[in-house]
Amino acid sequence: MSEKNYRFETLQLRGGYDPEKHNYASTVPIYQTASFNIGNIERLRRIRNYEEKGFLYSRSGNPTLDVLQQRITALEGGTSAIAVASGMAAVSYALLNVAEGGGEIVAPAALYAGSFNLLKYTLPELNIKVNWVEDPNDPESYRKAITPNTKAIFAETIGNPLINVLDIEKVAEVAHENGIPLIVDNTFPTPYLLKPFDFGADIVVYSSTKALGGHGNTLGGLIVENDKFNWDNGKFPHFTRPDYKAQNKNLYELFPKAVFTTRIRIHYLSNFGAVLSPFDAFLILQGIETLSVRVDREVRNTEEIAKYLSNHPSVSWVSHPSLKDDINRGLAEKYLPKGAGSILSFGFNGNQEEIDVFLDSLKVFSFLVNVGDSKSLATQPSETTHGSLTDEDKAKAGAFSNAIRLSIGIENVQDLIEDLEQALAKAKGNFIEEK
Ligand SMILES: *Cc1c(COP(=O)(O)O)cnc(C)c1O
Repeated sequence: MSEKNYRFETLQLRGGYDPEKHNYASTVPIYQTASFNIGNIERLRRIRNYEEKGFLYSRSGNPTLDVLQQRITALEGGTSAIAVASGMAAVSYALLNVAEGGGEIVAPAALYAGSFNLLKYTLPELNIKVNWVEDPNDPESYRKAITPNTKAIFAETIGNPLINVLDIEKVAEVAHENGIPLIVDNTFPTPYLLKPFDFGADIVVYSSTKALGGHGNTLGGLIVENDKFNWDNGKFPHFTRPDYKAQNKNLYELFPKAVFTTRIRIHYLSNFGAVLSPFDAFLILQGIETLSVRVDREVRNTEEIAKYLSNHPSVSWVSHPSLKDDINRGLAEKYLPKGAGSILSFGFNGNQEEIDVFLDSLKVFSFLVNVGDSKSLATQPSETTHGSLTDEDKAKAGAFSNAIRLSIGIENVQDLIEDLEQALAKAKGNFIEEK
């Protein structure tokens, strides 16, 4: 199928899959196998020399994952992708792949807590230093944090839990002026709402656990590249030096359109091993089939709920770029014309005891730590996702003590609003009669 001409809604169902090559199965088959028969020794040599595409062992490649990888590549407008076992594996492999061997990363603190902890604690233990951006909304702040040893800027296109929008074009410019890539975590918008490559990002990572999978039933991560960045500019010798996994050839010359993800596959997946299972790849593919339909509806529900909350006396602030006076509105109009996603934060106007009652009283919303599910979810980041951060880091990350994060699903929006209404009332000691 020549995919270049198909639009997003078609690619999400058909991209990267040719039934003819899979016994005409209309649904992508689950290749539930650890190994693949080699056939004969000549074939093994051809596969090893990258002269023939073939599968040997599911840690370094599997046909079900291959379809998922091609599908996200098509949806993203990239040139190659790699699937891994979780979003954190995607973030950590992407950052290691640029900064291994003592490099540095520049990032804002307004990050998913797992990423924040990776950057603050784990990467420094591996001799990868992180220089923090003071103001995530100011592109100049990124420039100030860069040193000669910086290997990438890493940021979220929509920050968690602040719901701030990254000025991708400006930050990409800063990165490129310094010969380094911009790596973005695009989990919140998904490629349906935002394609970071269109604005100069070089590597896009996902937790497919969230809206891509969309049903809260499986962990997964994806890393996507395009072929714009020059990895042979002297800052990344590990991409061009003789590679023992490629007959001591230059990996960048062998895979000019896929060097980043190939390196992750043959080094990190092969040697660290955070591989996605074929069954989980199948579930993520199932989720992606309905991505645009779910996200459109979630965005509509979210916009209504943001408006409702912003008029509620028990709510001191609401962060969602759809609101008229939101500080990210201008950036959202540029980068997210189809909607600013299904996740919002709001400040509860009250004390922790009242917040406890609010969370305990929700009946439709699930109280849990996930986002991007087709079911609506609520959590208090400072007590859950960001609970391991120091108070100072919580403030920097935007996990304020009174902040509640909602991830809006595809339920009937009136039921969601009535659920919030009764829980907010109960938190203040008022009881609303059930309808
Ligand atoms: C959830 C999440 C991650 C981590 O993904 P897992 O699949 O849970 O490992 C990374 N980044 C963002 C923005 C996330 O929401």
